[in-house]
Amino acid sequence: MKILSGFFTDELAVDLGTVNTLIYAPNQGIILNEPSAVAIQKYTGEVVSIGSQALKLLGREPHDIEVHRPIRGGTIDNFEITQKLLRGFLQKAHGSHPRRSHLVVGVPGSATPVERKAVRDAARDARAGRVDLLDEGLAAAFGAGLDFEDEHAHLVVDIGGGTTNIAIIASGGIVNSVSLQAAGNAMDEAVRDYVRVKHSIQIGERTAERLKIELGAACDGEGVPCEKTEIVGKQLINGSALPVDIGADEVRVALEPVLSQISAAVRRVVEDAKPEVTADIYYSGVVLTGGGALLRGMSERLQHDLSLHVATPDDPLTAVAMGAGRLMADPEKLSRASIRQDSPVWEDTEKLVANW
Ligand code: ADP
Ligand code: MG
Repeated sequence: MKILSGFFTDELAVDLGTVNTLIYAPNQGIILNEPSAVAIQKYTGEVVSIGSQALKLLGREPHDIEVHRPIRGGTIDNFEITQKLLRGFLQKAHGSHPRRSHLVVGVPGSATPVERKAVRDAARDARAGRVDLLDEGLAAAFGAGLDFEDEHAHLVVDIGGGTTNIAIIASGGIVNSVSLQAAGNAMDEAVRDYVRVKHSIQIGERTAERLKIELGAACDGEGVPCEKTEIVGKQLINGSALPVDIGADEVRVALEPVLSQISAAVRRVVEDAKPEVTADIYYSGVVLTGGGALLRGMSERLQHDLSLHVATPDDPLTAVAMGAGRLMADPEKLSRASIRQDSPVWEDTEKLVANW
């Protein structure tokens, strides 16, 4: 029976990220890795395209099409559109034969019961027969290769698009977890603000992200492949186009406030930890995952600010999906690690919210 149910049900691990969605299937690995974007026909509500096809339209969309990134702040911002996005991605992953599936979905540690319910409902609506939610910090840690049974504490910092999740994990559970909005999107926003104030031009979010990736660094002395990049912005005074050279030093200055917020938040989590945990982290250091781990000099920066060893997995962008996939393969560990079904929100006690 177990074999049969395994045959008819797809098991998929989903990292529904603010910027990228990844789907992992057992024995196949990552089968989908696309931007969390969906283009919708404004008047009919029909999905025009999803993923990279939809992102291509962002900032240049025809008047009757709207491009949404529905998971803005780390959790679901627009429920209906998230449903459409997830359904579209699962259809892509399943091919032309949509089947009922068992989904394991990563959610940020800071997600409220209402937000977690929204993720569960969106997954069920996308034909999921069973949905297990996992703390992303936990999933990222196992994806980076940490041992589930290890009773020693480890510190995991996942710098994503919408949120940076900082989690202390031990014995397959969360000891403490904190999320903050200082992450990839905030870095892009900081670059946009800098360019607007210093050069009096407006640039789009994709141009800001390109500047961050091409020229950004988390500490001085990091060699960047080029020292400046030409961008074309829209002049604030008359709306016309103006090409401007932006230097790596400028991007570094723009990113600095966001980077110091991340460092300060990690330091606070370490300072608030119990002595045993602090001692463990002194030896085990920090595991750094998420797209922000790819910023030049990010691990050196954290290493310097925290005086702790910082390690990054080979592919920090896939850590959450890989970790959720690893847990999915072991039902006993999965049931220990997954967030239990929430009681109705009005019955939630402080304790329950704090301890899930
Ligand atoms: P999420 O889980 O929220 O979808 P990801 O972990 O996929 O986020 O990371 C996406 C973020 O990582 C984006 O803000 C993107 O700009 C950033 N990013 C990706 N590559 C790099 C890079 N080489 N340097 C700096 N930031 C990067
Ligand atoms: Mg993520």
